[in-house]
Amino acid sequence: MALKVHQFPCLSDNYGFLALDEATGLAACIDTPEAGAILRELDKLGWKLALILNTHWHPDHAGGNAEVKAATGATVVGPGEVTRLTPLDRQVAGGDVVELGATRFEVIETGGHTLQHITYVDRADHIAFVGDTLFALGCGRLFEGDAAQMWESLQKLAALPDDTTVYCAHEYTAANARFALSVDDDPALKRRAEQIFAARERGEPTVPTTIGLEKATNPFLRAPRLAARVGAAGKPDYQAFGAVRAAKDVFKG
Ligand code: ZN
Ligand code: FE
Repeated sequence: MALKVHQFPCLSDNYGFLALDEATGLAACIDTPEAGAILRELDKLGWKLALILNTHWHPDHAGGNAEVKAATGATVVGPGEVTRLTPLDRQVAGGDVVELGATRFEVIETGGHTLQHITYVDRADHIAFVGDTLFALGCGRLFEGDAAQMWESLQKLAALPDDTTVYCAHEYTAANARFALSVDDDPALKRRAEQIFAARERGEPTVPTTIGLEKATNPFLRAPRLAARVGAAGKPDYQAFGAVRAAKDVFKG
């Protein structure tokens, strides 16, 4: 028995995720970008929602909590910062474990995009729900944290097994690929970018990704090797990362 993940588009560029613990038939919803879409998918699948797992407080991640909870009775779990927007039933932080039937989600602190952003890792199934920390060829903007905090968070994700399936919360990949090509000419990146542009042409999702693929091609994880390209030669790794992040913030693709 394992964890089965159902992914579907929400809002303009978010993804919604429902995860089923096959041993017990209990489901979790990771973030609540769009309550209507989440409730429709649950209905279609016939899954019973036990948990809402928030990664961070932003409205496109926790804004549907109240409506989904009212419709399903699910328990709302997330980092304390979510209460800035909407109530939680259970606050969690790094090292905590959230159980969904036989599935264990380990909470990893991955602050930077927001200060208390967390990632849920199912180590048995090699699955991670990373919210807005890591994207396919990208990473979250530093709205609240700094480059040092985000670099440390990304290193925690990079330390997961290469075959970990990474569910990122947005379809930003084509724009991320255009930026990546502007700072890196690695052949593996070029090949991946071509595949991404073709997939998006066909209207296909580029999420999920894997830790191995991101370690090989994501310019944010590869920042130390790209330091000279972004004016950070000889600087500590987190500063090279900060320089790549700053370059992306002003990139006009
Ligand atoms: Zn966000
Ligand atoms: Fe978001």
